[in-house]
Amino acid sequence: MYTIGIDVGGTSIKCGLVDSQKIVYKKSKQTTKSGNLDGLVKDIKSLIDSILRKNNIKIESISRIGIGIPGIVNKDETITCLNLGLKNSQMKLKLQQIYPTTSISIENDGTLATLGEYKYGNMRGYNLGVMITLGTGIGGSIIVNGNVIDGLYRRNSEIGHMTIESNYFDCECGNNGCFETFCSATAIIKYVQKLIDEGYDSLILDKCHNKKEDINAKIIFDAYIEKDRVAVEAINRFKEYLVKGIVNIIHFIDPEVICIGGGISNSEDIILDGLSQRVKEKVIYNDRDIADIVIAKYKNDAGILGASII
Ligand SMILES: [Zn+2]
Repeated sequence: MYTIGIDVGGTSIKCGLVDSQKIVYKKSKQTTKSGNLDGLVKDIKSLIDSILRKNNIKIESISRIGIGIPGIVNKDETITCLNLGLKNSQMKLKLQQIYPTTSISIENDGTLATLGEYKYGNMRGYNLGVMITLGTGIGGSIIVNGNVIDGLYRRNSEIGHMTIESNYFDCECGNNGCFETFCSATAIIKYVQKLIDEGYDSLILDKCHNKKEDINAKIIFDAYIEKDRVAVEAINRFKEYLVKGIVNIIHFIDPEVICIGGGISNSEDIILDGLSQRVKEKVIYNDRDIADIVIAKYKNDAGILGASII
């Protein structure tokens, strides 16, 4: 039997066919941020159906479908996702009507990425770990002896809304200075666009054919490798605040491991370069060891893997 793991992100919906804890086939499509549950369910259905068709298998061969969402699952199994414009939406009910004989579970995406990395990835073997996923926003979770800490009111994955310091724009949550307004892919892109608006020349514009709205994190990290001034400034700023976020986590939880996942984790070498050392310089009692800081083994696929096992 196969399972299907789906990671609904703020930018894309990623869907994977999983066999014996391995993703054997993957497909994704852009997320429509319309606040329209029917549109989202339709997109998920088209991804599932396409995966079944391409692999020549029937829905009866799927033991369960797990879905990670960038928000919270309410007690009545409805979901609320700020950045998808969904509130108390009946996603599970609608999908269950489409696939009545398959077990369907929905969970927060950060929680699932944490589970995926804990069971099969780079958090394996640690008793106390924190995962942070750097993507469209920032998610994450704490895992203690194999149990993800849900929190009484299920706000546990909102590490992206920890206040770091004041920023030049407000967060979608309404506050100012949230971690994700400094260290998410969206934040890096926004900062690069700001520098370009201020008149700085950059390779990044060539790479996106002068379409500022097409700038993505990969283009910026590529330009950083080519020592583009704007990219270097944006990535250095991102890393400065990543250090602050990690220092806060260590001061509060002091975990054995901090695992960085999400789309940005594809640029592993750039993120890890000097990171542990700079964190160590800033933590209190720094004559002691600090958490191992690692990149997720499954990078942006940790959520698919986690979703496939709930
Ligand atoms: Zn916020």
